Amino acid sequence: METLTLEKNKLPQLIKKIQSRYTVLAPTKCDNITLFKPINDYKEINLDFLNSKVSPKSILFCQTETLFKFKQGISAEVKSVDFPNSKNVIFGIRPCDAKSFSIVDFVFKDDFVDPYYMNKRENTVLIGLSCIKPGVNCFCTSMNGGPAFAEDVDILLTDIGDKYYVEIKTSKGNEVVKTSKDLFSKASSSDKNKKQEISEKVEKAITRNMNTKGIVEKLDKIFEDPIWKNISLKCLGCGICTYQCPTCHCFDIQDETTLSDGARVRVWDTCMNPEYTVHASGHNPRPARMNRTRNRVYHKFNYYPKNYNIIACVGCGRCINDCPVNIDIIDIIDQAREVKA
Ligand code: SF4
Ligand code: SF4
Repeated sequence: METLTLEKNKLPQLIKKIQSRYTVLAPTKCDNITLFKPINDYKEINLDFLNSKVSPKSILFCQTETLFKFKQGISAEVKSVDFPNSKNVIFGIRPCDAKSFSIVDFVFKDDFVDPYYMNKRENTVLIGLSCIKPGVNCFCTSMNGGPAFAEDVDILLTDIGDKYYVEIKTSKGNEVVKTSKDLFSKASSSDKNKKQEISEKVEKAITRNMNTKGIVEKLDKIFEDPIWKNISLKCLGCGICTYQCPTCHCFDIQDETTLSDGARVRVWDTCMNPEYTVHASGHNPRPARMNRTRNRVYHKFNYYPKNYNIIACVGCGRCINDCPVNIDIIDIIDQAREVKA
């Protein structure tokens, strides 16, 4: 790993150089919210943000994606879609969102390789930006992460005043900056100490914690407990918690057709939707909201750790911030831990 520094006034030059070889997606301000979008010019970037409203999972796992096209009738044929050749840089991704890709990767490349996700994943470089102010519902430090956690990015930038402390973590990261090395300086031990000091200060500012010790085993014992019914009573089933979650990855596949043509399209879905589990027979194994609320929690804190040895939550706090009826995943886990079993 190489550690460098970049003066802040040189960032526009760096972005311009990167844009000559990559499509750059960065946080931009849209109607008072921050979203990651492809940018043409450095001026479009907004670095004064806590985190994006929609997580950058939408870049690799698109909200709507055509899988293939087809013609119907006598001249029926299937036309595969071309994968784009372009290489992308996601600039300014927060460490928690970068971690979510490492978690979701298991689904898209473990038993079956999903070429749609993997093509984008392999051609995307993550330039992370450490948090300098946590949100009120952030709890990344409870989920083996942190505001300056560098394990899931290719490069991590940390604001240390008038410059960034730059950690190049992977060969992909090195490839991005190799033609711009003249913009950087070697990091000194005082730069390193400053980064450490700032990271520790931000960590201390995180006030929310989730205790997940023994949660997998505990959930095994309380599947039929009344807490799931109680928790689900105020849930509206809107699905915001799952659409906003960087680790949720449910999808539906639909055919959009005209008389002669069609496209098979993958779209985001949510396990909070009653139709999500309806069988062709009409039977629904999760008929009540209680079943669906319980499933969201079990999927993240029981099934996923059993399958992949990792909890499917990065502590970004989006589901807490955006739930219209204030359902709080930390409170749910606290309640589950308190049940006598
Ligand atoms: S469950 Fe909530 S806090 Fe955890 S990653 Fe998903 S949105 Fe973020
Ligand atoms: S955001 Fe809140 S109300 Fe909507 S489905 Fe999730 S828990 Fe229920």
